Amino acid sequence: MEEVHSKVLIKRPTFTTLGNCHAVFINNKLVLLIGPHWPFMFCVIPMIIAVLVGYLTLIAEHMEVVWQFGGVCIILLALVSYSTTALKDPGVVLSDSTNDLDEDTTGSTSLCRHCLIFKDNETEHCEDCGLCMRGLDHHCIFTGKCIAEKNIFCFYTMLTSIFGFFIYTMLFLSEKFE
Ligand SMILES: [Zn+2]
Ligand SMILES: [Zn+2]
Repeated sequence: MEEVHSKVLIKRPTFTTLGNCHAVFINNKLVLLIGPHWPFMFCVIPMIIAVLVGYLTLIAEHMEVVWQFGGVCIILLALVSYSTTALKDPGVVLSDSTNDLDEDTTGSTSLCRHCLIFKDNETEHCEDCGLCMRGLDHHCIFTGKCIAEKNIFCFYTMLTSIFGFFIYTMLFLSEKFE
């Protein structure tokens, strides 16, 4: 009797620790990375929700529907971009990816004594995360981890939406009380 093997690939998530961070791999691909300062997420997310509730109860009722909708969209954008920044892989350089270093970069590589990997000029080690990051910008405690190559766009989207919401509300209030 022949055994029938299912050809359906099951994407089983693997939870593990990387440096000082918590990571989730699916099909050997790093998909989520939660940084060492993750408790700050439980302060920032309720703060954004509080701003949304405050906006809906105090400001939005004085606005036209189009203005109300615009404000909600900006706050939701801030929430989504913050969550993505805090959860996404920021650009961790894993030991497996050392092969990615091309021959032409060999002159400018150095060994990370902590991760025991060769890093190129674009890569820096973060002491807080305990990992090497490609395109490291800074370690942000409010998102719990590093801002690097892969999450910097989401980070700037978050900053822009928070600043944008502030301007948006100020514009409305200045127009209303003119
Ligand atoms: Zn390192
Ligand atoms: Zn870091």
